[in-house]
Formats: sequence, C-alpha cells, structure tokens
Amino acid sequence: MTGAIKAAVDTVLERYRRDPHYLVQILREVQEACDWISPEAIDRMQEVMRLPRTKIEGVAGFYSFLYTRPRGKYRMLFSDNITDRMLGNMELLDYMCGQLWVERGKTSEDGLVSIDTTSCTGMCDQGPAMLVNNIAVTRLTKPRIDAICELIRAGAPLTAWPAEFFRVEDNVRREDVMLASEPDPGRALTAALARGVDGLLAEIKASNLRGRGGAGFATGLKWEACRNAPGEVHYVVCNADEGEPGTFKDRVLLTSYADRVLAGMTLCAFVVGAKRGFLYLRGEYRYLLDHLQAVLARRRRRNLLGERILGRTGLDFDIEIHLGAGAYVCGEESALIESLEGKRGTPRNRPPYPVTHGYLGSPTVVNNVETFAACSLIARNGGAWYAGVGTEDSAGTKILCVSGDCSRPGIYEYPFGVAVRDVLADCGAADTQAVQISGPSGICVPAAEFDRRIAFEDLPTAGAFMIFDHSRDLFEVARNFVHFFAHESCGFCTPCRVGTSLLRNMMDKLANGHGSPYDFAEIEKMNKILQAMSHCGLGHSACNPVLDTVAKFRPAYERRLEHDEFKPAFDLDRALTAARQMTGRDDAEAHFDARSEESR
Ligand code: SF4
Repeated sequence: MTGAIKAAVDTVLERYRRDPHYLVQILREVQEACDWISPEAIDRMQEVMRLPRTKIEGVAGFYSFLYTRPRGKYRMLFSDNITDRMLGNMELLDYMCGQLWVERGKTSEDGLVSIDTTSCTGMCDQGPAMLVNNIAVTRLTKPRIDAICELIRAGAPLTAWPAEFFRVEDNVRREDVMLASEPDPGRALTAALARGVDGLLAEIKASNLRGRGGAGFATGLKWEACRNAPGEVHYVVCNADEGEPGTFKDRVLLTSYADRVLAGMTLCAFVVGAKRGFLYLRGEYRYLLDHLQAVLARRRRRNLLGERILGRTGLDFDIEIHLGAGAYVCGEESALIESLEGKRGTPRNRPPYPVTHGYLGSPTVVNNVETFAACSLIARNGGAWYAGVGTEDSAGTKILCVSGDCSRPGIYEYPFGVAVRDVLADCGAADTQAVQISGPSGICVPAAEFDRRIAFEDLPTAGAFMIFDHSRDLFEVARNFVHFFAHESCGFCTPCRVGTSLLRNMMDKLANGHGSPYDFAEIEKMNKILQAMSHCGLGHSACNPVLDTVAKFRPAYERRLEHDEFKPAFDLDRALTAARQMTGRDDAEAHFDARSEESR
C-alpha cells in the first residue's frame, strides 16, 4: 500500500471516528481524495474498521458514483433525462468523446478522462447538464464543451475552471405563500416555543399539511406517531434525495430557503424529542455541501441549533449532512435509512415503518424538504391560516418544477388546485401535446385533460412538470423512462431486476422495427408481474410510462408495429452489416433472409 493512500484513508477514517455507520461517507471521501476506491484503500478500511471486506465492497458496488475500478481523473457524466435529450445532450456527449478521443463508457488510455451518462441531475431548467467529478456544470453548448476539453487537456483543476460553468440559477418564476414570505431564521422557532410541544403539534395537524414527497401522508399524524413511539432516542431525517427525473425544487429550497428547511427539522425535533437529525442530500447536489454547512454553522452561532436552543432547557438538537452517491432508490425512506446506516440502499420490508423502527431501529420522522419548509411557515402563521390555502383535501401550496417545451422553465409555486392549463399559460408553453406530471412514475396528461388540477385528489405530484409539444414522440419519452427504471433498479428482487430489463429490451425492440401486437401483450403481462411481485414502488411503477402512453398515444406505438407476426428482437441480417463491410460484399448471398432460409 502506498503511503499516500494509507494517509488519505486514515484522515477520512479519523474524521468519521472509524464508525461503520458512516461507511458511505467514508467511501465517498476516500474516492474524492484518491480518484477511486482501490483494493489498497479497501484493505486499510477493513483493517481499521474491522469490517468484512465483502461488506465494504458490497456497499461500494451498490452506488453508481462510487468506483472500485480506475476511472478518469476527470469523470464526466452527462445528465440523461428526457429533457436533456430534447436539448441535445447526446450530440454533445458524442462531440466531447470525439474531441478527447475516448469511447463512451470507457476511460481514455492515458487515464485522463472518462465519459458516460447518468440519470437526471436535477438541472432540467438549465440543461443540458453534466457532472464533472460530481460537481454540476450547466447550459452545455459546443463552445462550452470545447473550452472544457481545453481545460482537461491542460490538466486544470476544477477550481481553475470559469465559475460561470458551475453557475446554477434558482429560476423562481412564480412565488406564493412559501417562496414570497420573509426570510426570518429564528421566528418560526420562537413562535413554536411560545406555543409549546402540544400547541405546535396541534397547529401542524390543523394545517392539514400532507407530505410533499408524493405519497401525501398527513405530517401531523406522522410526527405524533413518532412522538408516541416507545424508545429513548428519536431521530429526524430530511429526505433531500430528489431523484425523480424532472424534479429540482429541493435544489432551490436548499439554495435560497435553507433556513426554512432546517427550522422545520428543528420544529419536528421539538415535537418528537429528537436530539440528532440528518439531511440526506443527493450526490448530484454535492456543490451545495459547503453552502449548507455554512448555514448550519450560522444557525449554531445564533443558538438555533446545538444545546439549549434559544435558551430552552432540554431542547438540544443538531443536524448532520449525509451525501448520497447516485442511487435513485434511496429516495424511498427505508432505503434512505439503510444508506444513512452505512449500508446498501435496499428498501426494507414495511411494516414496521420508520416512525417506530427507523434509523438504528429507533423512532424516526422522515419528511421531504418542502414539507419541512412548510412546517416553519405553519409555526409562524398557524394551522388554520395554512389550511385556508389550496383545496379541501390538499392544503397549502405546491412547488412545480417546469421543464421541457416552454419559454420559461423553472420553479412555480401555486396553491393546490391550479389547472394544468394555467401552468402552461404562465410558463410560455405552446402547441403542447402532453405533460408528464410527477416524473416517470407519475401520469402523462394529454391535451384533452389540461383542465385537470394539481392536487392529491386529482393529479398528485412530487413536483415534476415536463412539457412535450407536438414535435415530440411520446414513444421515445416512455422509452427514456423505461431505460431509467432499468438503470435504477437496485437488483434486490428478481421481478424488478429482470422485469425492468426485459421491459427496456421490449421497448428497444419496438424502436428497432421488430415490434408486433404480441409485444404489447407481453408488456401488459410484465406490468402485472412487476406490480404484484416487486418489493418497492420503483418496481410497481416501472410499467406506468408505457401503459399510460399506450392508452393515450397509441398511434406512437402502432407506427412501430411493422409485423403482424411475432419477430425476434435480434436482427441477424443487421448484425452481419460489419462483416459485409469488411468483406466488401453486398450481394444477395451475403444477406440473411429468413423467408428464403425457410424455403431451402
Ligand atoms: Fe430494488 Fe426494484 Fe426490488 Fe425496489 S422493486 S427493491 S428497486 S429491485
């Protein structure tokens, strides 16, 4: 083992007190120091932490941003959401590969650079985007790619790259009660302390606030269940792992409204009696880490975190930030807790739920970033005030992340109940064919349904609002989403691991001109298997984009059904193209014709 690797690993292990619960953080930081997680680095972790090697390798192998094989010194990952595709990400990726003489998915021979794709990076309003060594670069163009290639060839560190490349804008286009309210870091807590624990919980319940991560569970009931759950130690977790493609509201809340989110976590700790909290930040938002650490430090200085918060004896609470490492499934709350505990992010069996058996088996509240931000508003203004905004079943406002075919992509906050049509008018969308609400696992809304409303009782959403005009092919949209699910399946259960891959292959088969009605029937069969037998929501919803678009945009599929009879996906004649080119032949004998083959 080289001294440099040993020293780097030891420094990281020391920082985390050799605690295996921090294994994901340790692996991530070792990689930041050494470019990859080498066998020597794992040797040292095994020796010092006394963990089985298989455990360390198993965790490192689970997360797509952790590398146990050498990668380029510059690791480029192009964001590959459908909106990035619409903005030309693949042309730019191919262009960059050509400029740097590297094949997609490979590392250059000199070890300088590797280029590949990754799932949506949460920059859909300023794409195409990519991550360079996990730091976001936005608004990619050919001139920007040229400049980046020059910097890479010169070996320039990221700190020497123009700051403009890393600029991430909030793009807040419409404010309502949450985004327009005055920032006032201590006011929510002061108001909550005056009300007391029971009073604050009563206000949260009276507000009818429902979780903003998509499921919509009543926040007050969740806090109450956790508070009443037996156990000495309780925890608060903020789920900032917004991985649903097309969603980027948490990015903005944590950039410009972080005090509100952290205040909401502290209010929750006050109610449930927690002393420790975690903010689980998605790895794609690595660039926010220093900013958030600074906000935490400022809150500690103001006695809004730490011991005896605002002088209240017994109110001791602090927050740590954990960075994810590229696993969509960790957005599921029990998988997130596994990851927080330093394990692979595999969803747990439920029940029991985290409110009784969460982090380290203790009662834990897990809420979304936007939910915590709303709680600080409720603490200030009261539950009745909040319940008066929105609709009867959906109190308050919803932040929408608008992207795709419109002139003003960005963040729009509306009271619940806003019609899809009104959002389209506000963001400058024209000739809209469909809107995908709540990402790939959500709903595709055609033009005939644009009077439908954003609300739990009609169109529930975690926030994504992706717009497609009539120039877009809804089959290709669904195919992109199916590829996403196949890529992000964690592999724990066979129906999802195999089913999502088969589904991806079926969609590719249709795209390659081998589709028949038989394939439709197979897709429906696959949906039933995935819905009935998958372990978590990813598997349950993996067929949604296909079934939804087949039902609403059938011609986009029928165009691809070139055969009445079943055709295999593998095209032998096409596979022989390279051989024909190499031998310079293109005569009839050099082609494989299945019909003539049968008659021989
Ligand atoms: Fe993992 Fe998919 Fe099974 Fe969920 S359904 S546990 S993502 S394999």
